Amino acid sequence: SVQGKTALVTGSTSGIGLGIASVLAAAGARVILNGFGEVEQAQAQVARLGSAPGYHGADLGDAAQIADMMRYAEREFGGVDILVNNAGIQHVAPLDQFPVEKWNAILAINLSAVFHTCRLALPGMRERHWGRIINVASVHGLVASKDKSAYVAAKHGVVGLTKTLALETARTPVTCNAICPGWVLTPLVQQQIDKRIAAGTEPQRARDELLAEKQPSQEFVTPEQLGELALFLCSDAAVQVRGAAWNMDGGWLAQ
Ligand code: NAD
Repeated sequence: SVQGKTALVTGSTSGIGLGIASVLAAAGARVILNGFGEVEQAQAQVARLGSAPGYHGADLGDAAQIADMMRYAEREFGGVDILVNNAGIQHVAPLDQFPVEKWNAILAINLSAVFHTCRLALPGMRERHWGRIINVASVHGLVASKDKSAYVAAKHGVVGLTKTLALETARTPVTCNAICPGWVLTPLVQQQIDKRIAAGTEPQRARDELLAEKQPSQEFVTPEQLGELALFLCSDAAVQVRGAAWNMDGGWLAQ
């Protein structure tokens, strides 16, 4: 059970991270939020479901700010028991036109940040003899799509890092797994639908076509469904799930 455990969910002011934080809070975890934008709204949503969450506004592109966030978790909550690495950004462009600064930012936020939070959370988990690390990768951690070179490279990296850490922790009560969502209707995906609308496609058709290209169910995965998967990975029953890259993708990877 996650009752009384402390869960740090990065990028949890929106979308999937907020969904996972909400499900963990409702199950009794003490949650630390992170991310930008509608911070107060996210805090209020989590507080309605469980206890009032902590918050740290670290920019995960910056290793020093990540270290500061981990010290905050240690100081205010006695450390992180459940680490959900969820913060992520996207940029879509062909490789030879891909802005170098976007490449660097995506690698820093989507991949290097996972290394830093894991590196800093692991000693405490070992000491307390319990830990769950859940990395929100993507179907793009396992297969590619065109025009997403940085994202696909970073997410494949997250899956590789997850497997490595699972081996290094295999004989401990700390587990490390990745979850690999297909399309989830969040601001990150809405941007891609908006691009199609801007190119002249009707809104409903833009949504339908985006799904039809990749996701056989023709429906979006929801943040709450991903929260329930994360909650399962935190359970005692999941203690031998180690190094998995678990897809929840409406059939995307079955093709
Ligand atoms: P989102 O844009 O709704 O939320 C992203 C969150 O990350 C926000 O809270 C934002 O404030 C935070 N964030 C962004 N940059 C940050 C930074 N530098 N430092 C700290 N926080 C930062 O996106 P989402 O769709 O919910 O995506 C969450 C994760 O799920 C990402 O890792 C994404 O790659 C992954 N994912 C999303 C989908 C999808 O279809 N939406 C599919 C597969 C994987």
